[in-house]
Amino acid sequence: MRKIALIYTGGTIGMRRNDVGKLTPMEFGAVSDKVPSLKLLPIDIIPVALSHPIDSSEMTPAIWVELTETIESLMDQVDGFVILHGTDTMAYTACALSFMIQGLRKPVIITGSQLPVGVLRTDAIENLVSAFEFAAMVDENDNGLIQEVCIYFEYQLLRGNRAYKRSSNEFDAFSSPNFPALAESGVKVTVANELLWKSKGPLLIQKKLNQEVGVVTLYPGLVYDQLPVLKHWKVLLLRTFGAGNAPRSSQFLKFLQEVEKNGTIIVNTSQCVSGSVVPGLYDSSSTLEQVNMLSANDMTFESALVKAMVLLGQGLSEEDFRSKFTTSLSGELTD
Ligand code: ASP
Repeated sequence: MRKIALIYTGGTIGMRRNDVGKLTPMEFGAVSDKVPSLKLLPIDIIPVALSHPIDSSEMTPAIWVELTETIESLMDQVDGFVILHGTDTMAYTACALSFMIQGLRKPVIITGSQLPVGVLRTDAIENLVSAFEFAAMVDENDNGLIQEVCIYFEYQLLRGNRAYKRSSNEFDAFSSPNFPALAESGVKVTVANELLWKSKGPLLIQKKLNQEVGVVTLYPGLVYDQLPVLKHWKVLLLRTFGAGNAPRSSQFLKFLQEVEKNGTIIVNTSQCVSGSVVPGLYDSSSTLEQVNMLSANDMTFESALVKAMVLLGQGLSEEDFRSKFTTSLSGELTD
């Protein structure tokens, strides 16, 4: 029987209403008791709970480290992992784990739900049961078929670092606009084997992150000469328009040059959730070409942000940072 660790972090899936009617996380025992079908699965489930179940909007890099350490401590004892997580920051956590645990050879499937597990119309049961089924699937050599960090939600298995939360009120809460679903579960389960990520290198666990990453979102009307240049920024993510465009403004250029003088690496990431940054495509990207800017290519915003934090945590030289940021480490971008 496959042994799968079930790591409970909190989220709507395990919430109930408190005395004042607000949704708040329950302890783990109360959650698993509400899914009797888990006992029917031919899987040996090892329950693990993080120190405090949280609403995932309280997620922090310190909790990503706790999660990574939990996975690391169980790596040789189990065949895979299912993580219960709130949907709000699930995509960020998926990115973090995919960059902090490289060379993964076992499935890490993150799931949650839009309605708590005890509610009659809940989506929790299907999400949880299918997440376990994917975590327990094996290949012809009896190794885990999935060997990467995924999000399972509403009949789709998505690469975690390609997904983002698209809806707060539909069951179909996640989307992966730049990479197809790895698997779909309907009456039949279909897995796109050719899309699955298979690591080449050895297991490499990074537990240091550096949060000195800034974000500036461009919008018509932004007053560029009032933008502060923050000294602690090691990386600045610039959320540009469309294919990576920005206005041709001398004040904006001055801002970028000051950021660069500060030693900050600037990353061009688009506000569009689908498609890629294409430097130099439009004349309107010419301002950006005057600084040594990195392109986030077709990474999600979540992926670019968390990847910057994890790479900064490694204390790389600027050259190595630039090279790793623009290379696919865990299938997060199209090389
Ligand atoms: N606020 C909740 C959370 O992210 C929402 C959810 O789980 O769907 O923890």
